[in-house]
Amino acid sequence: MRTTTTSIPCTLLPGDGIGPEITAATLSVIDALGVAFEWHEFTAGATAAARGDDPLPTAVLDDIRETRLALKGPLATPIGSGYRSVNVRLREAFKLYANVRPGRSLLPDGKFPDVDLVLVRENIGGFYVGVEHFIAIGDDPHAVAEATGILTRETCRNIALFAFEYALKHGRRKVTVVHKANILKSLTGLFLETVQDVGRAYADRVLLEDRIVDNCAMQLVLNPAQFDIILTTNMFGDILSDEIAGLIGGLGLAPSANIGKDAAIFEAVHGSAPDIAGQDKANPTALMLSAAMMIEHCGLLDAGGRMRAAILATVAEPSTRTGDLGGPLGTRAFAAAVIANL
Ligand code: NAD
Repeated sequence: MRTTTTSIPCTLLPGDGIGPEITAATLSVIDALGVAFEWHEFTAGATAAARGDDPLPTAVLDDIRETRLALKGPLATPIGSGYRSVNVRLREAFKLYANVRPGRSLLPDGKFPDVDLVLVRENIGGFYVGVEHFIAIGDDPHAVAEATGILTRETCRNIALFAFEYALKHGRRKVTVVHKANILKSLTGLFLETVQDVGRAYADRVLLEDRIVDNCAMQLVLNPAQFDIILTTNMFGDILSDEIAGLIGGLGLAPSANIGKDAAIFEAVHGSAPDIAGQDKANPTALMLSAAMMIEHCGLLDAGGRMRAAILATVAEPSTRTGDLGGPLGTRAFAAAVIANL
């Protein structure tokens, strides 16, 4: 653990792959902004596992219990086997029931210039609870696979209340609940039913619509401007938020907040991007925007707004974009350009 003496205690997980690079870039902007954090830095995920340590060390959990706040780089998860996602375990451990993923057109010359929506994703239930197993038949140990999705009415109610209250607080007028209740009649049927129930109390202030997830995926590509808040289950939210990132220019631009009653963890939507790790190529915009959300969450609205404005001004200008957006800058030079725009 590294500690620097400043004022807002915050757990820091730079993460795997491009994580350390985009974290360093983000911290340099926060330093220049003059917001004082006391960073408690830890190694987790694949980097910790490679050293033979727990990918989610107890010290990390203890620290977040104290700080109730974390800025997190991406953590890699082995595919098909190996340890369970540390991202999912953190969300469960701190009951981070709401995942907020704003998707806004940041590139004036982008394909979809008028996207301005917020995806609110149920963050701890559904198919991501990890209740799954193989059944062996004969000599095939993987002959059958079974997975169970779990949602409670209370979970659905909490996320619905969060979405409607978020709408009121942020001046949003419409919630579109996205489900698959025609097929998954119980799992996503309960979600739909509960959201509609909660929505009745807000009917005079927030319009509620519903869409089946496949239709929503198509509508997003045809006319993303029709959406204001999309409220959906864990797995659909995971998938649709990457689609939304694609609409606004790519994963490098999509921030997120994991909000619970006892803690909040801020991270980019994207993963550890092993294909470009260690090359000063990663776009740190998503983590920087997540940090701006975190600064606002701490009540520093002016500072968070100033940081976001500097990031937006930097990505709006083609000559100060990173390579993923066709620009000439690397991670470090991009951070310097944001600092110049502060
Ligand atoms: P990914 O998001 O890491 O990468 C997908 C593609 O987008 C890659 O081509 C990558 O180079 C590019 N990309 C992503 N972020 C970028 C950025 N900031 N700048 C420029 N290009 C960027 O997805 P993946 O390859 O499917 O997953 C890699 C690992 O990340 C996996 O282990 C996965 O489990 C993990 N992951 C973690 C999180 C998280 O920590 N919350 C989220 C998603 C995936």
